[in-house]
Amino acid sequence: MQFTTPLRIALSKGRIFEQTLPLLAAAGITPLEDPESSRKLILETNHPTVQLVMIRATDVPTYVQWAAADIGIAGKDVLVEHGGAGLYEPLDLAIARCRMMVAGPPGASLNGERLRIATKYVRAASDHFASKGQQVEIIKLYGSMELAPLVGLADLIVDLVESGGTLKANGLIPLEWIADISSRLIINKAAWKIKHSVIAEFLAILRASVESRSAER
Ligand code: ATP
Ligand code: MG
Repeated sequence: MQFTTPLRIALSKGRIFEQTLPLLAAAGITPLEDPESSRKLILETNHPTVQLVMIRATDVPTYVQWAAADIGIAGKDVLVEHGGAGLYEPLDLAIARCRMMVAGPPGASLNGERLRIATKYVRAASDHFASKGQQVEIIKLYGSMELAPLVGLADLIVDLVESGGTLKANGLIPLEWIADISSRLIINKAAWKIKHSVIAEFLAILRASVESRSAER
């Protein structure tokens, strides 16, 4: 791939970064530093015009919405909470896969009066219970949701579950499925017009890469 137009890509550290590396490699992009060991927030790559910006997962849609990055990779969970203004979401990358679930102590009721739900995912949780006609009180947390039912802050939580190990370690179990979650490519709407050829080529490479992986599965 030829890069002459500057392209800034927003990513978060950890699983998204790790699982994005092979996709970047398919497009011929290699970061010059490892974000897990470097403290730099802007990572240069083997292409002088391609930069990676390393930010909190929940901030990725915001950077792309405001064109501080042209494109980004964000979980569907984060995109639902953000709302998607100013963004295109053209491709499911099928990475960082997990499920959004209602969880709680074994035997907990899912339809009591005024259930209290602790979660980071306020919008997804509200939509889920509203769609069932279930009135709930949502308590916004920023992490460690598993603690809430243990100390009487909430009856249930809404959280992401991969193996269920974290829930189990805290005496909780998944009770109800809400959504399958994976990471998506997001594109700033103006950048899609102004930098169309480079972004469209990048998108095509990612799409081919995702399709060949799903064929292998
Ligand atoms: P932080 O851990 O910094 O508070 P975060 O939890 O949003 O932020 P990550 O844990 O790196 O950041 O998660 C990033 C994305 O990866 C999430 O938005 C979600 O889409 C996905 N994800 C989160 N937890 C899991 C999991 N257990 N298994 C698979 N994917 C997950
Ligand atoms: Mg996390």
